[in-house]
Amino acid sequence: MSIQEESAQPDGAAAMAGASAPPLSPSDYGLASPPLDLCAACGHCHQLEENHEYLYRDEVDDDLVCHICLQALIRPLDTPCGHTYCQECLTSFLLESDFCPVCRAPLMLQSCRKPSLLVHKLLDKLTVACPFSDHCAVTLARGELEDHIKSR
Ligand SMILES: [Zn+2]
Ligand SMILES: [Zn+2]
Ligand SMILES: [Zn+2]
Ligand SMILES: [Zn+2]
Repeated sequence: MSIQEESAQPDGAAAMAGASAPPLSPSDYGLASPPLDLCAACGHCHQLEENHEYLYRDEVDDDLVCHICLQALIRPLDTPCGHTYCQECLTSFLLESDFCPVCRAPLMLQSCRKPSLLVHKLLDKLTVACPFSDHCAVTLARGELEDHIKSR
């Protein structure tokens, strides 16, 4: 009797292990639950290497729009050919290409520079809504959002 039970158990365990055998591939895990923290700067969940997300209240001037992501520039970079893109957008674009996405001039990341303070000031002035709109209806300048989120 006891011998039968003992011999049955390893079989049962093996069957159970077999049932749960097909493991999720790493990519399945990645899709299922990306462990994202709330970004302290923009209040949205995104990867560290992704752009901040903002809820713009007004139409953004075309001169301040990145022509890769079509959003207002974030951490802008000027190219030698005179175009401006988000640093994250341009970095990932240039992983696969070596030209400017707008004018197709040859382009390397090392030759790009931060634009003038004026561009940063204009971007900081863009009006955005607080991302925590459930309990906060504030709109404020993009440059003030990080402090606003911190003081929440
Ligand atoms: Zn962010
Ligand atoms: Zn961009
Ligand atoms: Zn260009
Ligand atoms: Zn708020």
